[in-house]
Amino acid sequence: MILQTRGKATHLEHFIVGKISINKVEKDAIVSINDLNQVEFNHLSQSKAILTTFPLDSFTDLNLPIIHSVKNLEHLKQNDIIVLNTNGVVNTLYRENSYHNFLFLTERCNSNCLMCSQPPKDRDDTAYFYEINSKLIKLIPKDQCETLGITGGEPTLLGERFFLLIEELKKNLPTTFVQCLTNGRSFAWPNLAQKLHSINHNNLLLAIPLYADIPEIHDYVVQAQGAFNQTIKGIYNLARYNQRIEIRIVLHKISIVRLKELAQFIYKNMPFVEHIALMGLEMEGYTPYNIDKLWIDPYDYQEILQEVVHFLNDFGMNVSIYNIPLCLLSEDLWSFSVKSISDWKNIYFDDCATCTKLNECGGMFKSSIKKSSEFIKAFS
Ligand code: SF4
Repeated sequence: MILQTRGKATHLEHFIVGKISINKVEKDAIVSINDLNQVEFNHLSQSKAILTTFPLDSFTDLNLPIIHSVKNLEHLKQNDIIVLNTNGVVNTLYRENSYHNFLFLTERCNSNCLMCSQPPKDRDDTAYFYEINSKLIKLIPKDQCETLGITGGEPTLLGERFFLLIEELKKNLPTTFVQCLTNGRSFAWPNLAQKLHSINHNNLLLAIPLYADIPEIHDYVVQAQGAFNQTIKGIYNLARYNQRIEIRIVLHKISIVRLKELAQFIYKNMPFVEHIALMGLEMEGYTPYNIDKLWIDPYDYQEILQEVVHFLNDFGMNVSIYNIPLCLLSEDLWSFSVKSISDWKNIYFDDCATCTKLNECGGMFKSSIKKSSEFIKAFS
């Protein structure tokens, strides 16, 4: 699935965020034009901007911001929300027919995880992404958006602007469930946990990764000394203020070693967490470069996974398995498996077409083409 395209920008001095209207002029919408016969040219000036596959000379008398000569616009649907950038890049920000929409807040991060799928970049993009997301939140239809993610980088590095966006979400999309991926380290400072609490967004869940019950392993995985202590402090500060928390554990060769101890640690010390997600590895970003350190076939950790999932479940913790197809899970774990992979990066292999479990199975990451388990096999 395509979420980005590019054309040539004209009359575009600042980025524009807007809703798409296809071949039809709508006030304050970005008109996406791939059929000139359908367009009412004398009303075009009412629109916010034009995005088109045609060259600029089809629109010579117009003084509107235009991105023209785009190869293909078929991935855009009516009412999708996009941003037109001054360099001609067009990013899809929100798709009306998807459950996998997210706000991307920054490429910066204070960790540098071995398996980061979106390796951090050290440039200050926080003002740019704040402005985009602030405009986006106001355009998302109220009461139609059931769920929305927040991701990065590390979203809390937006500082004050992070809290402003949470306030805007609460005000504009109060019924939308918001899941924020954060390493939790910023909340080691109690005033930040308190600040989040003061916004009182009841539909906000903070999803925080933890890779071991001891600092040595967690800090190694996230490549940041002191991160474990900060994350644990952050989790406790958030719990003190009754914030909703999920713990995320990516399963790989390093985290598997103490997975049982980590499960006990969470049960004993964090009974307040709302959900624990045990997650298969994505072959994206840094992972292929660290494959020797990280790769273990899911088939080979089934016994440990069974023990951990049943332990947490038996003791009343809410536990799920993400990103692992059913043919790699023992049957007693199927009821914990969730179709978790975002639609734009979710695939099934050719053999899956004949699999009797196809409809129940969440499939694989697109990046699994680079490396995947030897044991993926269709059920007959
Ligand atoms: S063969 Fe494909 S559809 Fe069947 S369980 Fe495995 S990954 Fe899922």
